[in-house]
Amino acid sequence: MPEREVTEHLKLIADISEVTALLAESPDLQGFLDRAVVMVADHLDAAVCSIYLYDDKSRQLTLSATRGLTPDAVGRIQLDIGEGLVGKALKELRPICVGHASQSPHYRFFPGAGEEKYDTFLAVPIRKGIEKVGVLVAQRDEKHHFTHAEVMAMQALTAQLATAIETVRALRQVAQPAAPPPEEPEELFVRGRSASPGYALAKSVIFARRPVERILKQNQQSGEGVGTAADLERSLKATTRQLEELQVGLGEKLPEVASLIFESHMMMLKDRTFMGQMLDSIGEGLPASRAVAEVAGKYIAKFEASEHNYMQEKARDVEDLALRLLSNLSETGDAGETDWSGRIVIVRELLPSDILKITLEEVAGIIQVSGGLTSHISILVRSLDIPMVIADDMRLMNVPDGESVLLDADVGNVYINPSEAVLTTFHERERVRETVATQQSRMAEQTSMKDGQAVKLLANINLLSELDLALALKAEGVGLYRTEFPFLIRQALPSEDEQYAVYSRLLDRMHDHDVTIRTLDAGGDKVLAYFDDAGEPNPALGLRSTRFTLRHREIFDQQLRAILRAGANVATLRVMFPMIASLDEFVEARKRVVECVNELREETGHEFQMPKVGMMVELPAVLELIDDFAEAADFFSIGTNDFIQYMLAVDRTNDRVAEYYCPHHPSVLRGLKRISEAAIRHDIDCSVCGEMAHDTRYVPFFLGIGIRRLSIDPHYLPEVQACVETWSAETAGAYADSLLAKSSSKEIGSLLV
Ligand code: PEP
Ligand code: MG
Repeated sequence: MPEREVTEHLKLIADISEVTALLAESPDLQGFLDRAVVMVADHLDAAVCSIYLYDDKSRQLTLSATRGLTPDAVGRIQLDIGEGLVGKALKELRPICVGHASQSPHYRFFPGAGEEKYDTFLAVPIRKGIEKVGVLVAQRDEKHHFTHAEVMAMQALTAQLATAIETVRALRQVAQPAAPPPEEPEELFVRGRSASPGYALAKSVIFARRPVERILKQNQQSGEGVGTAADLERSLKATTRQLEELQVGLGEKLPEVASLIFESHMMMLKDRTFMGQMLDSIGEGLPASRAVAEVAGKYIAKFEASEHNYMQEKARDVEDLALRLLSNLSETGDAGETDWSGRIVIVRELLPSDILKITLEEVAGIIQVSGGLTSHISILVRSLDIPMVIADDMRLMNVPDGESVLLDADVGNVYINPSEAVLTTFHERERVRETVATQQSRMAEQTSMKDGQAVKLLANINLLSELDLALALKAEGVGLYRTEFPFLIRQALPSEDEQYAVYSRLLDRMHDHDVTIRTLDAGGDKVLAYFDDAGEPNPALGLRSTRFTLRHREIFDQQLRAILRAGANVATLRVMFPMIASLDEFVEARKRVVECVNELREETGHEFQMPKVGMMVELPAVLELIDDFAEAADFFSIGTNDFIQYMLAVDRTNDRVAEYYCPHHPSVLRGLKRISEAAIRHDIDCSVCGEMAHDTRYVPFFLGIGIRRLSIDPHYLPEVQACVETWSAETAGAYADSLLAKSSSKEIGSLLV
């Protein structure tokens, strides 16, 4: 050890006696921590020294004292155990010392904390025996790395700190048994996880499900009420007109669900029994508003009591309709409906039917407070470009309407009443984002690797509204069009003609580009309410996807006919089947396409061409038969989202097992290589369309195993194009080989670029 280091080291150890003195001088735990960070920062000559305390109940670390970071970050920065470099140090109970913290994959950035300048990072766990107490962190600018001696000194120091902290904590608990509950802090910071990226700064609005019930109840209970039969007639007319206008507005924003989305509302308004009962009640002397409330209440109760999902959904329609009628009856035109426009909506659970309201009212962001999120709702929210965070913290449901909320859905942070420092960082990031947005428009028409080899970048499209972005960012086609959304959002099966209209629009917009339409991938976590009568004990392994369509031939044929009609003159149309498990299944599904083509030819007398027919490779069962599949199919598209889920038996929507969902598990990587090689051997296209395809750590791996088509969320096109351009077949091949040579996920993880 060099002499200077030894001296520093000894000096620090010697000064540990200071800890006792500090403790004696400090008025309380906070005072002690504040002094301790100053002392350590001075000894280590570190610009930043912070202490994070660990709470065993919440399993979270909270920044509890700092010298060098923004003071208001104290209490605000929270990390789960294992999260970020700090959480990792505590989880693994070992010091973590890195020269460039911000480049580490484990680094977590907290806007407004002010740590950007201090990239040399040392985190040492504070422990008392096996008890985890916290983490002591020191940071310097990037030129001054920590020495081995300094790491050892910090470890010695943390042992002293642990005893002191535990003692003070214990004393405090005994001394303050009846401490009053802490007041809700004005500024609230909650860590969640991102469900759809982006940033939003807007006012909050809480969406308590079924506010209508309350309104209806109030109306039923209060003896008063307003309106005559003539007023109800007027309200009915106004409601019909409003619904028609909404229909038009929605048609522009969400064409795939627009047609007749308010069908059941309209039918109810025309229904003699429904409206007749209201008029009868008015005839018996009730004011119109009470008549609406009573009749609607009766229907809602009946629908809700049904065992069938689709009938329960009808209760929502009645609620919505009753609200509109009441609103048009009231003098103010307001029946208490929640206005979401331009707001950040805080909601317990997001349902597919909420998507319409979200789209119509252009919400700024969404915070879902609990419950799981089906992957398809999150895909949909992403397609609508709405930032969304899932944060399991019930305090959020108590945030009053109209509070200022900063939603950083890129990392999953929620700030209620954010401080000036946080806002400044937000505005800076917005500025950078705008610059990047301008650069995006300078994308090359085609993408090539460093050695000139072409790579086709295609777009994954879920909603037609995303085509604008895909085209602006020069997508060379659509590699995956997920057809399930029109099926999911609606309350009844879309007809062949409705589907035809959607697919025609898609193909028209993409003219000569390849368009791959995937047949209905329903079931699993994308249950169609109107088909869920039986329910399934294990939907991920149930009657889903191609199994579902082969069982419900009429739905499959209707969809295939709609696709074939829309693509009658489109040479670039491709059709693919999801979740294929066996060759027989693929052959059977393909036969349906041939038969639909023949039927259409006979029916119309026109020529219908047979499109290319391919399959999603998503199940490990396909691997052993991969050459047979490559002979039978015109192309492959690898759905890594499900491939990982089924290969590793990890539910892709379950947070509790998220750490096991490892895209670079060696079996996954080797499986992917087998698929790509089989496609090359049989000279068929093979693309990757799962989310791994936009991750720049994996893009070179895909290039290295011979993949030349990537289909991704259009937002990622610029990033992926830039990444592809920096690799040649040779360098990517070497990178892929280096990953494939390892048998441990951990080792592969450490090799990722
Ligand atoms: C996949 O599984 O990777 C995929 C693209 O399909 P989805 O996410 O729609 O299941
Ligand atoms: Mg899938």
